[in-house]
Amino acid sequence: MDCLFCKIANGEIESEFIFEDERAVAFNDINPQAPTHILIIPREHISGPDAIDGSNSDLAGHLLVVAAKLARDLGIDESGYRIVFNNGLDGGQTVDHIHLHLIGGRRLGWPPG
Ligand code: 5GP
Ligand code: ZN
Repeated sequence: MDCLFCKIANGEIESEFIFEDERAVAFNDINPQAPTHILIIPREHISGPDAIDGSNSDLAGHLLVVAAKLARDLGIDESGYRIVFNNGLDGGQTVDHIHLHLIGGRRLGWPPG
């Protein structure tokens, strides 16, 4: 399968990981929307939030654990941050390998555009 984020996760496309373990990797978004904008992805290909079910919910939850850990490590836990999964066209998903955005370091607007 020709998947950009699979290639980043498996090292086929060289990237600097902010975090990695056996199940997930995290790296800076190429087009950051805030001082901190990190993508956290599973090594395993999951197409998006709509593909989360009982068979992979532990892995999806692990992405949240990594996001919270990174936010603490980066010192944005007290100022606050946003974690986002986009799904599908209306949700703004442009890469069909699930990714959790960790965005912070400035005051974010709500609701999203
Ligand atoms: P989505 O819009 O699917 O929720 O988020 C995809 C994100 O991936 C976007 O924020 C986009 O900037 C980022 N992105 C797309 N291609 C690359 C890439 O090759 N490297 C990195 N680091 N980020 C990418
Ligand atoms: Zn993939």
